[in-house]
Parts: sequence; structure tokens; C-alpha cells
Amino acid sequence: MRAWSTRQLHAKAEKSKRIGFVPTMGFLHSGHLALVTRAKKENDAVVVSIFVNPTQFGPTEDFNAYPRNLKKDLALLKKEKVDAVFVPSATAMYPDGVKSTINAGPESKPLEGQFRKGHFDGVCTVVVKLFDAVRPTTAYFGQKDFQQTRVVEEMVARRKMPVKIVVCPTVREADGLAKSSRNVYLSPVERAIAPVLHQTLLLVKKDLLAGEPVGKVEATAFGVLALTGFNVQYFSVCDAKTLKPLRSFKASKGKRVVVAVAAYLGKTRLIDNSLFSL
Ligand code: AMP
Repeated sequence: MRAWSTRQLHAKAEKSKRIGFVPTMGFLHSGHLALVTRAKKENDAVVVSIFVNPTQFGPTEDFNAYPRNLKKDLALLKKEKVDAVFVPSATAMYPDGVKSTINAGPESKPLEGQFRKGHFDGVCTVVVKLFDAVRPTTAYFGQKDFQQTRVVEEMVARRKMPVKIVVCPTVREADGLAKSSRNVYLSPVERAIAPVLHQTLLLVKKDLLAGEPVGKVEATAFGVLALTGFNVQYFSVCDAKTLKPLRSFKASKGKRVVVAVAAYLGKTRLIDNSLFSL
């Protein structure tokens, strides 16, 4: 991978090629492909990686069950005419096991960090390794995983890595459910309930913009989701930069906020968010 990228970066043309990079865990859907489309628009060559990264899964999480279909993914990417697909093995990425990991910054601590200990350390570790191999000019991430984008942006800034991070909007099903590889786990009944997550985020946005108190809005949303059958881990209105909870609404006027939610429907863990300015 490194040799390929080096050839692109030192192409014979007077200008070196811009490499756009889309890291994924595969089982691709139109959310991933939207990142590819954007990358193609803004670069001379596009690389997609497919790697189900073991270090970002906790011991009780779904690493083994995570859906995989490399053949279909490669066919989709061929159709998209991407320039390279990087599919490293776990031993190529972690030749000596996981002896050293990168510590994610403070943005990793709230929300997902409360429920998935070490998850963002695993994400940062693999992103650094992937960037080292691919040497992208720009890397594309989805807003669907908003906290991940903040953690990666801050890591790149702190380490002064020469990579631009672009965040792309969440792609949704017609009924509002955010596209996710994990949606295949949902039973038909759960799939019918799942769009309530996005609907609740829209209602919360409306209530917050109408000046309703944060605590009340959060509690109502929590209640609605619980009654619908979700097992909610967090539903939190946060500062979109620090990801710290917003308490005083008045002091937050003009601030960018993210309303972030993680909830189980049966055995499937879903996350979603809504990003706007107060
Ligand atoms: P994953 O394969 O789930 O690790 O996702 C790879 C990249 O695709 C991440 O940057 C995700 O945020 C992004 N992504 C996943 N689902 C969506 C979606 N529905 N809309 C936009 N981006 C997405």
C-alpha cells in the first residue's frame, strides 16, 4: 500500500497526486459510497480500506459477528472505479499483537466512551496505521459517527499529521434510519421501530430551538425511546466541539450542539445524532 501511494505522490506529472482516503470496516452501503463519491470529486486517486479492526471492539462486542462480504464490497468499489482497495490482514496491521495503542483525547471520554471503554483508543491506533500506509491528502469520515470524527480531528491536529479531515452528512433510509452495516441484525419488527430514533432527534431539535430546557427535552426523549422498546444507553445534548453535556441553555446561544444517542433494539446497538446551532 505504501509503495503504491508513494508512486502516486511522486507521479511524473509536475504536480503530485492528491490521494483521497475512505477508511471502512466493509459491508458497504450507500453511506460509505457517498464518502467515495466525495473523495473522487476532490482528489486524483481514491483509496478505500476494508478492515474490521479488532482493537476497537470490546471483549463482549460483536467483532466475530460483524457482517462481512468482501466479494460484494469489491464489486461495488470496482463499479465506483476507485483506484485502490486496501484490505490488510490483522497480522499485517498488528504484527506483534497490540503492544502499544494510541490514547484518544478528552473528546473520547463522554458518550461512547462511557459505554465502550478503549473503543476510541482502538480507532485512533488503526487510523494512524492506515494513514501511515495510505498517506492520504484528505480522509473522509461520516457524521453518523460524530464523536469519531471529533476524536480523529483532534488527534490529527495534536499530532500535526499532514492529512485533511472531511466530514460528510449521514445517509439515511427513506424512513430516516441512518444507514449502517449493523442494520442487517434488526428483525422485521425492530426494523419497523428503528426510525423512531431519528424522529426523536428531529423532535428534540425542534424543542431545543423553541427554547425548551435541555434536561426536560432529554428526559422526554429518553422516555419516548424507552416506551417504544429501545434500551437507551445515552441521549445527550452536547457542545459539538468538546462533546461535554450542555446544561445551561441560555449560555449556549449561538453554539453548535450535537444531540447524540446510543440505544439497543434487541441485541442491535444503534447510534445516531443531530448537529445544529442554537
Ligand atoms: P464503518 O464501516 O461503519 O466503520 O464506517 C466507515 C465510514 O463510513 C465512517 O467514517 C462512518 O462514519 C461512515 N458511515 C457509516 N455509515 C454512514 C452513513 N449512514 N452516512 C454517512 N457515512 C457513514
